[in-house]
Amino acid sequence: MAPRVEPVTSNEAAPSRADVVIVGGGIIGASTALFLARKGVSTVLCEKGHIAGEQSSRNWGWCRKMGRDPRELPLIIESLRLWSGMDEMVEGDTGFRRTGILYLCENEKDLAKRQAWLQYANLHQLDSRMVTGDEAGRLLGGSARRWAGALYTASDGRAEPQKAAPAIARAAQRLGATVLGGCAVRGIETQAGRVAAVVTEKGRIACAAVVLCGGAWSGLFCRSLGLTLPQLKVLASVMRTAPIEGGPEAAAWGPGFAFRKRLDGGYTVAHGSANVAEIVPDSFRFFVDFLPVLRIEWRDVRLRLGKRFLEEWRTPGRWALDEVSPFERVRVLDPEPAAADLEAARRNLEAAFPVFKGTAIAERWAGLIDATPDTVPVISPVDKLPGFFIATGFSGHGFGIGPGAGRLAADLVTGDPPVVDPSPFRFSRFTDGSRPRPMAGV
Ligand SMILES: Cc1cc2nc3c(=O)[nH]c(=O)nc-3n(C[C@H](O)[C@H](O)[C@H](O)COP(=O)(O)OP(=O)(O)OC[C@H]3O[C@@H](n4cnc5c(N)ncnc54)[C@H](O)[C@@H]3O)c2cc1C
Repeated sequence: MAPRVEPVTSNEAAPSRADVVIVGGGIIGASTALFLARKGVSTVLCEKGHIAGEQSSRNWGWCRKMGRDPRELPLIIESLRLWSGMDEMVEGDTGFRRTGILYLCENEKDLAKRQAWLQYANLHQLDSRMVTGDEAGRLLGGSARRWAGALYTASDGRAEPQKAAPAIARAAQRLGATVLGGCAVRGIETQAGRVAAVVTEKGRIACAAVVLCGGAWSGLFCRSLGLTLPQLKVLASVMRTAPIEGGPEAAAWGPGFAFRKRLDGGYTVAHGSANVAEIVPDSFRFFVDFLPVLRIEWRDVRLRLGKRFLEEWRTPGRWALDEVSPFERVRVLDPEPAAADLEAARRNLEAAFPVFKGTAIAERWAGLIDATPDTVPVISPVDKLPGFFIATGFSGHGFGIGPGAGRLAADLVTGDPPVVDPSPFRFSRFTDGSRPRPMAGV
């Protein structure tokens, strides 16, 4: 069920001290490690399972500026700049290609929604533009439907989720970072109110700073420290086709389907408008925080009560650091994909693009997206705990922005001038009366 991820060989021993310890080896943790190592900072990257075992290997692989929340645009612009030199920087293959992305529109309402977003693109002189149905058809080739038009960004691209974070982690390792797979961080020790060490299942590592890049686990990690990070998990299902001849190069999102060509010649396909939010204790804890986003996204998110409620109910919020922690009990989150949604995606895709008809499905999997109430990440120091930083909550679009986010997190840790204004990503927005809200129509 889990997609095969390129392996990263762990360093043999955990050091007893480092400048910085990163919790979580997805694209965000790996990118943070790379940019810290490039600054000459001694860094340890701890991953409870294997590098990119969770969201970072399970996503669609889209690296897009298009349709972003305007608060994220400066960071994604920087991130795409980094992606274009990434293979060279990491001396590896992340699969990045600028092959363009289209949001296909069926009617005037869709067109108006997409057109409205262009005001943000224009502020940054992006190459995003509306195209006619004919041009969308030409750009993709082989469409059986006549589209009303599309929002198109030629400079957006794709990379390979099963290769990228491992390649970035290996590069960090070559620059001196220590990478520890199978190494859960249980918690943090403090001295005079600031971070002094992490306690991992492989021992204690003294450090001056910790960066939490724990994806869907970040809320629990924060709770164990007495910090409240409003975060919910959303289940998203994906499938991979066998290689296809003559399919579209550009990626596209249409009604009830989304696809992206892979380096192996197959396609990563999803429904795109059918996610599942399991009802868990956090759903009640953060109900008010998430109400605005639910109002906007209710058509695309189904609420479901399942066994996860009891599992999370039974998970303790605190534990002794010399005991096995919840992070060691689930090495890799590998939820069951929603088979009916994938089947619907396949039907919708085949009807719109007959080239996909009868193609074998090679793999199906799902991932748990970590969402914040305003669907904007947290990349921030934590005032209440000096030395503790958070880079998480990427709300279903953290792969493309990952390299930029890692660079920003590294700047914040070292106190260097930040690559972009970090204020939209501050942790304190949840408590300083800002009432963070998602942007409608992005
Ligand atoms: C189906 C799906 C499709 C998506 N499509 C896209 C897309 O096309 N484009 C895009 O930009 N984004 C996409 N996303 C979102 C993107 O994948 C995520 O935003 C991004 O991967 C988040 O990276 P991360 O490093 O924060 O989290 P993760 O990749 O989830 O990594 C977090 C890691 O932390 C580890 N960890 C947690 N706690 C501990 C601990 N205490 N000790 C040690 N390790 C710990 C976990 O094991 C995990 O490996 C998609 C997501 C999904 C699920």
